[in-house]
Amino acid sequence: MQQEHLFKVLVVGDLGVGKTSIIKRYVHQIFSQHYTATIGVDFALKVLQWDNDTVIRLQLWDIAGQERYGNMTRVYYREAVGALVVFDVTRASTFEAVLKWKDDLDSKVTLNHGRPVPAVLLANKSDQIACQLPKLDSFCRENGFLDWFETSAKENTNIKEAARCLLEHILNNE
Ligand code: GDP
Ligand code: MG
Repeated sequence: MQQEHLFKVLVVGDLGVGKTSIIKRYVHQIFSQHYTATIGVDFALKVLQWDNDTVIRLQLWDIAGQERYGNMTRVYYREAVGALVVFDVTRASTFEAVLKWKDDLDSKVTLNHGRPVPAVLLANKSDQIACQLPKLDSFCRENGFLDWFETSAKENTNIKEAARCLLEHILNNE
């Protein structure tokens, strides 16, 4: 029998890091230089045939406009089972904000039994020249990220891989 899962996954990070672009690339296979930032929360649904007997309905929650405040309301986080935390490799300030986003996530939502929601770090715009960054392997270990991926929404690099990594952990948490 087919099993169907519905997973709510949040995409967070500072303004302009590429959250909307990553979602559009992953869900609709498109990239554009210009997405008008609609204010509020936006959803995209990606349906994945994970294996022969598992279908995943992945609900990706985008944010717009509220990034500038650096945190979101509990309503936005409610029932999330995973998160993609995005920064822009060309802007150090967006990397510095990553821990603020991770703290906001962990303080507002947990899985059953109080375990933290699994989060994957995305170093986006990897098609551009990166600024100086610390070693991301140890950064992830120390700060509770599952893993990190160098992504490019523009060139379609590593987005599927990052989503797969997160989904594997989410399925293991079920
Ligand atoms: P958001 O505010 O986090 O949703 O960021 P957007 O998705 O709106 O992207 C902000 C800008 O960065 C847009 O001009 C995008 O075209 C651009 N952008 C997003 N991802 C990439 C990428 O991987 N590479 C490059 N070069 N530009 C990107
Ligand atoms: Mg956006």
